[in-house]
Amino acid sequence: MDGTTFEAMKAALRGPVIGPQDQDYTEARTLYNAMIDKRPAAVVRCMDAADVMAAVNFVRDNGLELAVRGGGHSGAGLCLVDDGVTIDLSPMRGVRVDPVARTARVAGGSQLGDLDHAAHGFGLATPAGIMSTTGVGGLTLGGGHGYLTRKYGLTVDNLASADVVLADGSFVTASEDENADLFWALRGGGGNFGVVTSFDFRLHPVDTVGMGITVWPLDMIGEVLRWYREFLPKAPEDVYGFFASLVVPPGPPFPEEIHGQKMCGVVWCYTGDPGAVADTLSVVDEAGPPAFHFTSPMPYPALQTLFDELIPKGLQWYWRGDFFDQISDDAIDVHARYAESLPTNLSTMHLYPVDAAAGRVGQDDTAWAFRDAVWSGVIAGIDPDPANAGAVTQWAVDYWDELHPHSMGGAYVNFIGAGESPERVKSTYRDHFDRLGTVKKAYDPDNLFHANQNIEPTA
Ligand code: FAD
Repeated sequence: MDGTTFEAMKAALRGPVIGPQDQDYTEARTLYNAMIDKRPAAVVRCMDAADVMAAVNFVRDNGLELAVRGGGHSGAGLCLVDDGVTIDLSPMRGVRVDPVARTARVAGGSQLGDLDHAAHGFGLATPAGIMSTTGVGGLTLGGGHGYLTRKYGLTVDNLASADVVLADGSFVTASEDENADLFWALRGGGGNFGVVTSFDFRLHPVDTVGMGITVWPLDMIGEVLRWYREFLPKAPEDVYGFFASLVVPPGPPFPEEIHGQKMCGVVWCYTGDPGAVADTLSVVDEAGPPAFHFTSPMPYPALQTLFDELIPKGLQWYWRGDFFDQISDDAIDVHARYAESLPTNLSTMHLYPVDAAAGRVGQDDTAWAFRDAVWSGVIAGIDPDPANAGAVTQWAVDYWDELHPHSMGGAYVNFIGAGESPERVKSTYRDHFDRLGTVKKAYDPDNLFHANQNIEPTA
């Protein structure tokens, strides 16, 4: 971008416009995933919807490449584009809770922790992911699942409306009653349709929950997964538990004798009476004696921040995902082998439940196309050392190659890894893909918003 264009953009916006010559540039192009190393021509920190409209118009009129940044957590680094402009919503954080209507208006650059904290003040919450630093924007637009999903559905199932800046610079609201086709597409279709400057969510009475962590020795992974695959789908909707293969972290609550050991486990959230969590989860013994089992009542936002310190910003990440409606014996063999070969202490595989309340929403009610899935799986190679980037990536790719034939054939869009083929986006949306292409044509006919898991406009 030449200097005149850059200066003109600066003049058009209230928020700072940061370029390679600026001191803040390194920080502005640094993402959660340190494996991403892109050099945008400018990062535009938008202060409000007016800034977003001005930035969209400027980028489009000057034929520049565009990306949009919410919380910057995308594994594939979709919120930056080399030599292009990032509309960075990070100054737009804030939540207004209406405790009577049980709703929250959440600014487009907010993080999950902002929403959890503000809603918790009123004993309320809505389903979202399991790390407080993840952006509400990218997570919601992809669908969003977390501890409350079996009880209250996906994040998008709790979205009542969204304010959106479209490719032509106009500002619209999308809801069941207004721009209903756009509202349908926003609920799972990713960042393809515009910049969401604010989300309105429905909230639920969730205050202190029962949490639990159970880990078993790795040589029990077959028995544990066979038990878990039967137990979880039939469990009451108040019981949520995601399965993980992991290296036990070197700190509390884990006893020292298991620190650093490869194990398998389940992280639990119980939304029934928190005092009953120990009794409710005593069933874990049916899988065989755990190496460690811990339960406790815990304020919901504390559960949401449990892993924030363990996996901070700045690590090397590569992930891939798929949906599963069963955990077959063949899949268990694959899980067992790759859990044995976890390449680093932070690398992991998670199976997140997306059944129960999420599974009861109509298949065609939102763009999310896997209402029949029971788990959204992710294989994540993670390490602080850039020298291990290749090894963690290769482990994740090899694992995925072997596991994919035992999946439903498509992944949660937010778990598609860098460099995967466009076919993967199609398989995410199944027979919703064509309808998404039609909505795209109506709202972004020139595909201005293409730095994402892209859906091209179709007639
Ligand atoms: P960004 O990188 O800022 O954006 C990702 C995409 O969304 C980009 O295409 C961007 O253009 C678009 N986008 C973001 N905000 C907006 C907006 N306001 N308007 C328009 N487009 C926008 N997902 C879950 O569902 N559940 C989990 O429990 C979960 N845990 C995670 C834990 C970690 C540590 C990480 C790194 C990710 C996790 N995810 C989880 C995945 C997460 O949903 C995605 O990484 C998501 O893309 C993050 O959104 P973001 O706004 O932080 O990302």
